[in-house]
Formats: sequence, C-alpha cells, structure tokens
Amino acid sequence: NQARSAHASTSPAHADPRLALVGSDTEVPLVSGEMRRFVNLDYAASAPALRAVHDAVEELLGWYSSVHRGAGFKSRASTAAYEGARESIRRFVGGRSDDAVIITRNTTDSINLLAASLPPGTHVIAFAGEHHANLLPWRRLKAHYLNAPATPALMLEQLESALSALPHGAAARLVAVTGASNVTGEIWPIAEIARVAHAHGARVLVDAAQLAPHSPIDMAADDIDYLAFSGHKLYAPYGAGALLGRRDWLASGDPFLRGGGAVKLVSIAETLWAELPERQEAGSPNVLGAVALGVACDTLVAVGMARIAAEERELLGYALGRLAAVDGFHPLRVWPAEHARVGLVTFAVRGMPYDLLAAALSAEHGIGIRHGCFCAHPLMVSLLEISDAEVHRLFDETRLGHHERLPGAARASLGLGSTRADVDALCTALDALVADGP
Ligand code: PLP
Repeated sequence: NQARSAHASTSPAHADPRLALVGSDTEVPLVSGEMRRFVNLDYAASAPALRAVHDAVEELLGWYSSVHRGAGFKSRASTAAYEGARESIRRFVGGRSDDAVIITRNTTDSINLLAASLPPGTHVIAFAGEHHANLLPWRRLKAHYLNAPATPALMLEQLESALSALPHGAAARLVAVTGASNVTGEIWPIAEIARVAHAHGARVLVDAAQLAPHSPIDMAADDIDYLAFSGHKLYAPYGAGALLGRRDWLASGDPFLRGGGAVKLVSIAETLWAELPERQEAGSPNVLGAVALGVACDTLVAVGMARIAAEERELLGYALGRLAAVDGFHPLRVWPAEHARVGLVTFAVRGMPYDLLAAALSAEHGIGIRHGCFCAHPLMVSLLEISDAEVHRLFDETRLGHHERLPGAARASLGLGSTRADVDALCTALDALVADGP
C-alpha cells in the first residue's frame, strides 16, 4: 500500500517492526458513505499504542496481582514488573540513579504532585505560554508569570531578570517550563534554562509531555531537577505517567495523596510515612499502565530516540513545505521559523473557521486533527491577538452561562506512524476545502 511504501523509502527507523502501532490500518466512514483509511494527525493529543505495548498488556492481563505486599508468585512477579517499569522510565529520560521515579496518572498529576510538595513559600516562575497543566497548579503558590517570550534568547533574559528580582532569602525557587510547546511545537532550550536557574539558586521542572515522544531526553546531562510526562502521548494507554526528580522536597511534608501503601506505621494519633517512591503512590497502583509505559520506554530506547527525532524533523520539514503552498495557510508560531520544533503545526486557513475545517477534514476526508485552544488559553490569546477587552467580555459571558468560546485554531501533529502520504492527504484535502469555500 501507498502509505507503507512511502514509509519504507523515507523512514527507516519508523519502518522498524518494533515500532508497529496498533490500529494503523483502521478504515473510517466518510459522509459520502465511502470507507477511507484513517489518517491520524493527532499524535500530540494521544498516540496509538505500540504493538509491543499491546502485547505486554495482553500478557499481563493473564496473571497480574497485587504489588508490594502479596507473598504469592503472581504478586512477586507483578511487583518485579512494576519496579522494572520504574527503571525503564528512568533510563528513557536519563534520570540519575538517586532520582525518585514516581508513577502517576499523567503529566497533570505529576505537576500537581510536585506543586503540593514544594517547601512553604517557594517562588515559582512560569511562562504564560504553558499548557494549563503547567500553569494552574502554581496558582496556589507564590507564582510569577512571565510573558510568552518572542525568542529563545529573550526567554533566557526574561528568566534571568525575573530570578534576579526575587526577594533575597531562604525561600526555595522553582522554574517550571515546557520541554516542547503543545501549540507551537517549539523545543525549549532546557539545558540553558537549567543553567540560568541554578545560577540563581532555583530548581527546574520540565513539562515533557510533548518533548518525551519526540526527542531524546537526558535529565542528568542537562541537569534537569524534575521532569513530568504522560504515557498516553508515548504510545502507551491512558492512566500512567511519571514524575522524576530530586528526592528531598518529595520526601518531606505530607504526601500528595494519603492512604494505604504510603505509610510505614499508623495509629489513630500518628502516621509514619513510607520512603519514596511509595510515600507518593498511595492506593493500589496502576500496574498495567506502568508496565505498558515501561515497555514503550524500552522500545523507544532500543530503536533510538535520536533516529526517531531526526526522521520526524525531516517529515515535519516536508509537511511545512507542502502546507505553505495551501492557499491562505497561516502557521501560528512565536519563535523564528528556523528554531527546532517537534512534529506539530498549529494553523489557520484564511476564510475557513477552524472548527468547520476540522469537522470537514474528518467527515469528508477521514483525517483526524485537533482544534480549539489546546489547554493553553493565555498563549492562544496572544497568538490570535485577542484584546484584553474581548477576554474580559468572554469571562463575563461565560460567568453568565452563555455559550461563548475563545477562538481557536487547528493543529496537525505527527508521530511514529506518520508518513509523507498522510501529509499529502492533509494538503490535498485542505486544497479541496479551500477551493469549495467555507
Ligand atoms: N503539558 C503539555 C505540553 C501537554 O501537551 C499536555 C497534554 O496535552 C499536558 C501537559 C497534560 O497532559 P495530561 O493530560 O496527560 O496530563
């Protein structure tokens, strides 16, 4: 088939059988009644599972049992599989041997867990362009929000001056940044950010939800203090993610969740909390999810994230070239076009409402993209140049219960199953939609 031959000729790592994905041959109905191969261009929201992940989960469903406390053979084997997944996750992102690796539900859970573990009075610096998951957990703390920066160099300057302006004293400091933006795809210079932060006595959290599936990560080499990511964007199912990082903050104070598994000893008056990672994993853990995520990590490491990233860059270059030729196509980005980015493009097409565009791509062409505001309202407000007055009006209308929405855009994103044929299908469909008009 055409997709497969394009694959083989342009993407040797992507054609590696170890990277086979579940459901890649799905056909979907069009409004015309015709069946069409589904073109998935929505990897940035959630990626399909690797076949290796599927097979591991299917096998584990046959014998999993309670972890950590069961004496039976299946419990011991499940504990070994769960703890093995923790080490696979550590290896995948180059975590230090003494970093805590906490299995969470997803990136949002990981960042909320860290937010709940910060020493009292910690100053947190975050940029306004972040995903809500890396914006809202800091609201309960001393948060300093910086404008979404126009260039990477300006970002470092903003950071430098924000850190210098923090009050002197013993309060802890944290810089919370994205590894790659889910709206613009821009890859943030996390090693540089860590260098600047550390020079000012601050630690760094990287929200790697979008970076992890598309780029090698080396926490130790880049001196990243904390890193969060989600399994469902990394070719594993929903419900498992990870937070890695320095142990001290995570091991002091009360755990984020309280309950069984997180304790050493309990009386009605007193609790002695367990050591990490159990201290932050109260309740029966998601063993299947963790093992699935571990298998995804191992598979990607075995094939090589650098190879995967290089091929994706090549495909993104092809996509950007093809899309630029679509009449009225306008990519939304902040940093200069030549800056490194992961395989996604958020765009508008002149004269085409973004929601109708997404609906028509699906109904008439069998192409799945994402549209809306991508859980990054402040960034979309600045990218779409929406005035403060309009934002206030939207807040007022929404409070009154009126159905008003922030305007949005369309986003196409690439992953392991993506091919030039997928990009061609999108461009041909956009050309047809533009020719027909809204
Ligand atoms: N951060 C970024 C950059 C994201 O793209 C996402 C998901 O879209 C998240 C955080 C939140 O991920 P999750 O919904 O898996 O917690």
